Amino acid sequence: MATKPTERVRNLGIIAHIDAGKTTTTERFLYYSGRSHKIGEVHDGQAIMDFREDERERGITISSAATTFYWNDCELNLIDTPGHVDFTAEVERSLRVLDGAVVIFDGVEGVEPQSETVWHQADRYDVPRICFVNKMDRIGADFFSCVEQIRERLGARPLPIVLPMGASEDLVGVLDVIGRCLLVFDRDSQGERYERLPVPAGSAGFVEEHRRRLIEELANHDDGLSTLFLEERPIGEEELRAALRRATVARAVTPVLAGAALRNIGVQPLLDAVCLYLPSPLDAPPARGHDPATGEAATREPRADAPFSAYIFKIVSAASADLFYARVYSGSLAAGSPARNVRSGERERIRRILRMHAQHGEPVETIEAGDIVAFVGMKSCATGDTLADERHPIQYEPIHFPDTVVSVSVEPKTSAERDKLADVLRRIAREDPTFRQSFDADTGQTILSGMGELHLDVVKNRMIREFNVQANFGKPRVSYRETFTGPASGRGEFARALGTQQLWAEVEIGIEPFADHRKPEAVSRLHQGRMPEPMVDGMLDSLLISAEGGGLYGFPLINVRIVLLEARYAETGSAEIAVNAAAAAALRDALRKGRVTILEPIMKFEVRCPEEYLGGILKNLGGRRAQIEDTKFTGKTVLVRGTVPLAEMFGYSTSLRSQSQGRGSFNLEPFDYSPVPEPLRASFQPRL
Ligand code: GDP
Ligand code: MG
Repeated sequence: MATKPTERVRNLGIIAHIDAGKTTTTERFLYYSGRSHKIGEVHDGQAIMDFREDERERGITISSAATTFYWNDCELNLIDTPGHVDFTAEVERSLRVLDGAVVIFDGVEGVEPQSETVWHQADRYDVPRICFVNKMDRIGADFFSCVEQIRERLGARPLPIVLPMGASEDLVGVLDVIGRCLLVFDRDSQGERYERLPVPAGSAGFVEEHRRRLIEELANHDDGLSTLFLEERPIGEEELRAALRRATVARAVTPVLAGAALRNIGVQPLLDAVCLYLPSPLDAPPARGHDPATGEAATREPRADAPFSAYIFKIVSAASADLFYARVYSGSLAAGSPARNVRSGERERIRRILRMHAQHGEPVETIEAGDIVAFVGMKSCATGDTLADERHPIQYEPIHFPDTVVSVSVEPKTSAERDKLADVLRRIAREDPTFRQSFDADTGQTILSGMGELHLDVVKNRMIREFNVQANFGKPRVSYRETFTGPASGRGEFARALGTQQLWAEVEIGIEPFADHRKPEAVSRLHQGRMPEPMVDGMLDSLLISAEGGGLYGFPLINVRIVLLEARYAETGSAEIAVNAAAAAALRDALRKGRVTILEPIMKFEVRCPEEYLGGILKNLGGRRAQIEDTKFTGKTVLVRGTVPLAEMFGYSTSLRSQSQGRGSFNLEPFDYSPVPEPLRASFQPRL
């Protein structure tokens, strides 16, 4: 298929609270556009297990980082947004590369906490949106109540442009406010065919009323339209759509549509709206980064004749080759051409370029600004890297994935499950860069670490429900760290017979604490030439491994520089073993003698709740050692921001739910480490 001019490209994401209907809607997008040949069966809760294999397959299809399909002469690149949205880092990665989003709501549930969280993140990234109020066939669905919630809770200016005709079981179709027609979807073709009928007489007033409101609201934002409006001249469909597009792209308003994806009602008008109102890459502001040589701010216009630049936002290891998903921000590139990895300075030759359609990629010869594609054949690229024209480098801000702060142990129920567990964890880790796993040699347990309690809970549920893993999980624990509060020194000796050799070594080290840097450093101040270089490097490695393996209380050390001061050893064939062991012993000695403190992760938090619950929520946060930074009122909701020790926030979602009758939502993000206060220190036992 021919590449489309950039103005007809839409890079979009779908964001929604779990169960609002993202999968169901996406299935229809792919089917109606001809991208898939059958609508994936939608399963109710019971059926999830039965269809697990099948769903997993589909899950992979849909979560492939980008899927391209065509609609109304537009090229739509649907970018996957994470299934769980509580974790800033994950969401940010997709918000960065998309130009617009469809936000799906459940017509009965309205605005749910998770939709609020993502909505505000999309605000931060200036992403224009269209809303789809789904499930209008459900009993109790209320389109206008949902629209009001979008206005009140999200602080948006929603403009209904497609209204439900009928409700619950009697939902007949949808009313197009701008086109002044009723759309009725054919059941036999799974809604693929639909008819455009005149608005029934009984609904004409209703449609005209909403058309008038739409025009009034748009006249506030659009000079062209306001002139027509004030002069009371008729306003045509074209003019109205153009004004709505300008206002949506400028994020002044948000069009809202109604439908029921499962009943195949209202999906095509949503696709039309994506093409009509969401921005093309050309509508996006110039991409901002910096010049790697001078560090000064730099920008790139989204034009094909600008110097080439692209951003790697996701890496998927496929069976055949690694796919590097990239968003091209400026310029153009032909397959086989070189580009500079600005971070590493390395020259990469982009052997092949693929436009992704679900799992399979279609090779393309050239790409240009606005494209989202997968590169194949790169040597060393990481998520967040920038590739640029060798003569005109620019560096875009890398995605920062914070340290993991919560961990939980997992053990397979039977030894037969061990391989499966390892396999499932590998798959999850590949998809989710904020998830880590490690092995605790002391206990023989696998330790899963993540961004928060909720994050690990989601991972755990996926393991059980989606992958059917039989395992026992421990209780979530805070991932503490430790550090020295002042300079320290240590001496270690190693003496042992190994066969006929008598191994002996003695090492002295110093400890210099420093702030700001997270990982420990190890440096040598031994007289040069005293020892072979590889031996010195071996000792430094040994010191770093010991430091990461845990200090006085068994937590990884941070913010320390370990200085190798003196080393003596008996010359034998295995002297390395002796000096490395003596170095590790010297660190243990320093930990025992020095002043060591335990650091706890401090989180940035945002709590959002209706005003009436604020008092109780603040009081409760106070009891959790929270520092409140600011309290902001938007409409009837309040946003409270500050910092709080993670250890105090376990179980907070349950507590907030009961304090706010389920209407509060919150977000936690790793921020810093700070010493555990004295009275709480007593519960930690030194292990050395
Ligand atoms: P996701 O979690 O956002 O991907 O939501 P799904 O697409 O998996 O849908 C969640 C549940 O809602 C499934 O059981 C769907 O069958 C159901 N569902 C989706 N769309 C509709 C709809 O329009 N009407 C009704 N009644 N149910 C729907
Ligand atoms: Mg889903």
